[in-house]
Amino acid sequence: MGLLDRAGARLTSRPEEADILVVNTCSFIDTAKQESVDTILEMARFKTEGSAKKLIVAGCLVERYRDEIRKSIPEVDAVVGTGELESILEAAGIAPPPAAAPGLFNILSSAQMRPGQESLSGTHKHETTAFRAEGDHREQQGRFSRDDWQGAAHMLPTYLYNETTPRFLTTPRSSAYIKIAEGCDHPCTFCVIPNLRGKFRSRRFESVVAEAQQLVARGVREITLIGQDTTCYGEDLGLKDGLATLLDELARIEGLRWLRFLYAYPNRITNKLLETIAKHDNICKYLDVPLQHASPAVLKTMKRGAGADIFLKTIEKVRATVPGIALRTSFVVGFPGESVRDVEILEEFISEARFDWLGVFSYSDEEGSAAFANEGKLQKRTIEARKRRIMKLQQSISKRAKQEWVGREVMVLAEGESEETAMLWEGRTQFHAPEIDGKVYINDFGDLETLEAGRFYRAEITEAHDYDLVARIIAQVN
Ligand code: SF4
Repeated sequence: MGLLDRAGARLTSRPEEADILVVNTCSFIDTAKQESVDTILEMARFKTEGSAKKLIVAGCLVERYRDEIRKSIPEVDAVVGTGELESILEAAGIAPPPAAAPGLFNILSSAQMRPGQESLSGTHKHETTAFRAEGDHREQQGRFSRDDWQGAAHMLPTYLYNETTPRFLTTPRSSAYIKIAEGCDHPCTFCVIPNLRGKFRSRRFESVVAEAQQLVARGVREITLIGQDTTCYGEDLGLKDGLATLLDELARIEGLRWLRFLYAYPNRITNKLLETIAKHDNICKYLDVPLQHASPAVLKTMKRGAGADIFLKTIEKVRATVPGIALRTSFVVGFPGESVRDVEILEEFISEARFDWLGVFSYSDEEGSAAFANEGKLQKRTIEARKRRIMKLQQSISKRAKQEWVGREVMVLAEGESEETAMLWEGRTQFHAPEIDGKVYINDFGDLETLEAGRFYRAEITEAHDYDLVARIIAQVN
């Protein structure tokens, strides 16, 4: 979007008025693939029945089914894989813009922007060189052994964006994601993401810091660091405690109120990382660590290792070092060979660990993953029943835990009117990551007439539900 915007394209979220349609796809599990294909077909209608002249498909589905997309959906004019983002202009038939003067930001006029959107483009005079600079670490990629790297290695994407790559933010004005690394070298047998995203590669330290500074200068107050594997950040650059060092540096940016990272790998949660979270007030007391399972037998076949005992020790250490920290995890149920006892082990673990937030994925049998060849595949209805069981257990844990929030005073980031009713506003605390966790509904503005989206307020929690909280505003925070 940033590249198109800078080249002069006017972005719109209304497909019926677009000349060029771009569908950015996901394809790591069955439901994501289905949603992607449905959206492509839905958009293809605008080409035959509406005014659209071009349909471009981008993202992970392209990495996986490049030829099939072109063959079976003739309306598709071009495909852009995860490693060839810059070719979006060629696909769209738009000429690249002349180089801008260093230090200039390209900002869309407010008339061109949708509410909550902001265009952010850094200097791009040295873009080509900078792209290469980020790619200089390629020869160091692939530190862990994935059995299937060899044959396909030359096909894997190697692209990395940097601080000079133009971005078009679609998140609310005050929040932004920064991708600090791309790809993954872990050998998890259920996962095809490394085949789609390539080997692990970190962005340069200075590039991430520069991007964060630019974002904060443009009014962003909350930054969420992402990557398939954030806790390995910097290993390929020779950095020791890369993520902790990066957090330490970013936390010093004046004006940045909330900083967090998602997708920690369990055995990469170091003391230094936890101490860094504890040390800075503006690093959210929040840890997202997908554990995938708790039964040692299942984790072994998943090629992830460890088990409930080791995880409980890690959680104990996390809570001791960062008191009050919110923990999020996700699990895969229905992995081939998962026994009734394995599910019980998982349930016992969940009861003991008492996560603040928990997601469950049904095992999706993906061609290209190592587990695709495994025996002991379970029936869909068995997998769904196990998923429901785990979610029900978590619901009761969450319900009890959320009650303890009533009466607490917290800082809330107001996000806007609730989709359900204009009488309520929605917000989040530092213990809620954007988009994935429960919500804080605000039903009492205190002395204020109205709230402003993107602002922080002191609030008191007055009610608690299974996952969501209700709050009343005490005062605005400057
Ligand atoms: S660490 Fe995550 S992205 Fe990497 S292989 Fe495992 S599940 Fe997939």
